Amino acid sequence: MEQFDVVVIGAGAAGMFCAALAGQGGCRVLLLDNGKKAGRKILMSGGGRCNFTNMYTEPAAYLSQNPHFCKSALARYTQWDFIDLVNRHGIAYHEKTLGQLFCDDSAQQIVDLLLKECDQGKVTLRLRSEVLAVAQSDNGYTLTLNGAEVGARAVVVASGGLSMPGLGASPFGYKLAEQFGLKVLPTRAALVPFTLHKPLLEHLQTLSGVSVPSVVTAENGVTFKESILFTHRGLSGPAILQLSSYWQPGEFVTVNLLPGLDLAAFLERERQAHPNQSLKNTLAQQLPKRLVECLQTLGQLPDVTLKQLNAPQQAALIESLQAWRVQPNGTEGYRTAEVTLGGVDTRALSSKTMMANSVPGLYFIGEVVDVTGWLGGYNFQWAWSSAWACAQALIADKP
Ligand SMILES: Cc1cc2nc3c(=O)[nH]c(=O)nc-3n(C[C@H](O)[C@H](O)[C@H](O)COP(=O)(O)OP(=O)(O)OC[C@H]3O[C@@H](n4cnc5c(N)ncnc54)[C@H](O)[C@@H]3O)c2cc1C
Repeated sequence: MEQFDVVVIGAGAAGMFCAALAGQGGCRVLLLDNGKKAGRKILMSGGGRCNFTNMYTEPAAYLSQNPHFCKSALARYTQWDFIDLVNRHGIAYHEKTLGQLFCDDSAQQIVDLLLKECDQGKVTLRLRSEVLAVAQSDNGYTLTLNGAEVGARAVVVASGGLSMPGLGASPFGYKLAEQFGLKVLPTRAALVPFTLHKPLLEHLQTLSGVSVPSVVTAENGVTFKESILFTHRGLSGPAILQLSSYWQPGEFVTVNLLPGLDLAAFLERERQAHPNQSLKNTLAQQLPKRLVECLQTLGQLPDVTLKQLNAPQQAALIESLQAWRVQPNGTEGYRTAEVTLGGVDTRALSSKTMMANSVPGLYFIGEVVDVTGWLGGYNFQWAWSSAWACAQALIADKP
């Protein structure tokens, strides 16, 4: 049986980076993935340009039942460290918005960076190689693959979450954690669009493709100021994706479609200047015309002129535009979700090394762990930081 110092399960962002660093630190590393390409999610990410980190990365941008857990790794391998690596590889990038850094050309450049780093670490990469089982042995672990068995002193589980099953996502990492007695917190799709009930959906479907800068608020008070996008299934756009991580089934979300505008004062000014102007045309100065027309068919916008608009109608209008309460009937689920909330309970792991406290030599990194970032490069940064922390421990532990 072939023997390695470390076997890394999953050639995604976290697994490739960890394998490369451990290899460069002198470990004999085998990196396995069930797919036919390494870094498949990276290639899909950021619309093909990979939003590889966020300049404003900080622990507050991560959800976890143990919010302190991510602090150590994020502080020891920061966004600036990864940006430095990207610079060393000569990859051009730009800030799109809110600190989000994207490749100028293609996400393939980040995959190539990781492959080159793996080469430098003399990592053995095997694709189309699914890990079926892991068992403890006298000197570490024995892994059963499709067609072979390999041995290793340490195993790094970087098998990701459940989002995008078409890209090889599997519950393997969670099952492995449970097999070794670690708790796995309930998982659910996050950074995912909302679906809506009929008949509201039927009305809003006419707006499919319309995007509006908004402020959205969850029932727990968490707020995001970004765009929302109307889709043929419901609501999406960065503000909605962010909020989905904080939403529980049955809850309402509140949408302010005119953030930063004193709507009462605006209507008063317009009334003074053009009393016979229709309310519809007045609002079309501030909102997409299709949205205004849709609000009218929904009965939320009376067919009146500004001088006819009475006080109760105005109050109701302001409420429906600036505190629109929507109750999603669900999310689009793992099929389109960018990430999975929940996962391996971090209380069972060392925040310094990512090793399971009760299982020497078994490590969990990246998305399989109960650490989920906001939209905007935070999830890749967690992959890099947790991989780095784990690799330092693997190197320190090598014979
Ligand atoms: C469409 C999309 C766009 C995204 N865009 C961004 C973005 O721009 N910025 C950002 O920060 N985040 C983004 N994300 C999130 C980000 O991609 C993930 O958080 C990140 O890829 C997680 O890395 P990982 O290495 O932990 O897991 P993954 O990248 O999921 O890698 C896990 C790998 O393990 C393999 N595997 C699973 N089980 C086994 C097994 N039993 N044997 C062998 N191999 C196995 C899987 O096939 C997979 O290749 C996006 C996600 C999606 C779906």
